[in-house]
Amino acid sequence: MDPRIIRLRGTLAPEEPGARGIERVARNPDCLRLRALTIVGIKPATAVKILGGVDREGQSPFALTLGQRFERQLIKNGAANLLALYRDQRHLTVAEAKVADIGELAPGSGAAARRRRERETRRALEAKLRGDPLAPNLIIKPRLTVSLVGVSHPIEPDYLVAADGEAFYRVGEIKSYPDRGGKTDQSDIRSACRQAAVGVIGLRQILDQLAVTNSEHLAVAEADLVLRVTGLFLPTLHRQSIKGEIDSVLRAIADAPTNLDELDAMLPHGVSLDNPAVLRSVPNHYRPSCKEHCGLWEQCRGQALAARHPIVLGDLAAEKLAAASSVDRALDLVNSTGAPPRNAAEAALGEELRAADTLLRRAIGQ
Ligand code: SF4
Repeated sequence: MDPRIIRLRGTLAPEEPGARGIERVARNPDCLRLRALTIVGIKPATAVKILGGVDREGQSPFALTLGQRFERQLIKNGAANLLALYRDQRHLTVAEAKVADIGELAPGSGAAARRRRERETRRALEAKLRGDPLAPNLIIKPRLTVSLVGVSHPIEPDYLVAADGEAFYRVGEIKSYPDRGGKTDQSDIRSACRQAAVGVIGLRQILDQLAVTNSEHLAVAEADLVLRVTGLFLPTLHRQSIKGEIDSVLRAIADAPTNLDELDAMLPHGVSLDNPAVLRSVPNHYRPSCKEHCGLWEQCRGQALAARHPIVLGDLAAEKLAAASSVDRALDLVNSTGAPPRNAAEAALGEELRAADTLLRRAIGQ
C-alpha cells in the first residue's frame, strides 16, 4: 500500500468502494472530492460523518433484506435457481452446470481470505482461457480488481457466466428491483449497468495482466441483469449492451488526476481527509443529480448555497449564469447595481437578463 494513501486516509480504516463506488465516480467525473475519497478508500457515508452530518445513504432495512433474500434464493443449492433461469432462456444447457462459488471456496473477511478469493477467481478465469472443459459455467462472487489512478480497488460482481462453447465470461448483476418491462425505473437499470461495466473493466484488466491480447473481444460489452417479477420472488433475465456505460466509466478513470502524484499535488501538502476542515476544502462539483448517488449531497449543496452558486437553481440556470459565477452577481447585472460588467461575457449576460426581465414584467402587467 502506498504510504500516501495511508496518510491521506488518516486514522480511518480502509473501506472498499466496490463497483458501486467506482461507478459513482463516473457519474460526476469532475468532482475531485469524491474521486479523492474513493481512491484513498473512504466511503461517502463515512465522509458525511466526518463533516458532522447524518448518513442517509443506506438502503432501507426492508430493501436490504429483500435484496439479500432474493440473491440467496438464486444462488443456494449450487445456484440451482440461477442455472434454471439460464436454461429457460437457452443460454446454458442442462449439462452446463459447473459452478464455482468463490465465497464458499475462500470464506471469511480477513486479508488472507480476500487474497485467496482473488487467487481462486484467477484460477477459474485461467481455466476458461485454456479451454479447460472443467472451467465453471457460473462463478459466484468473483473477486476482481479495477485500477483507479494506479491504485487497485477490489470489486465483487454478483456472478460471471459462460456456456462451454463461449470463449470467456460475461458479468451478471442480481437486483431485487421489480421488473416492469419498459416501465422499470430507468435510473435503477442504469446504475446496475454501470456496476456491471465496472466488472467488465475488471475482467479486461485481468486479461491485460495475463498478456491476453484481445481483451475487448473476450470480455464483451454486455451485461446480464437478473430482476424480480413484480410482486413475486421469481427472477427475470435481460441480456443487454453496456458499451456506453463502459465508455463512461473508462473516461472517468482516465480523467485527471491520473496518478497519486497528481492527486497529491492537487491537495494541500501533508493533509489527511479525515480532518473535516481539510475535507471541506477539497473542491467538489455539486450537481442536483448528486442526490441520486452520493451521500455527501447535503453537505456539498450546503456549500454551494453558502457560495450562492447558480447550480442551486438547477443545471440550466448554472449553464445560463456561468459568466456571473454567483446568483448575487447575476442580480447585480440585471439590476445594474454593484461593479460594472468585468468582461464581454458579463455584459452580454446582463443584457440578456434585463431583456428577459422586461418581457416578464410586461407579461404580468407590471
Ligand atoms: S455530492 Fe459532493 S462529493 Fe458527492 S459527487 Fe456530488 S459534489 Fe461530489
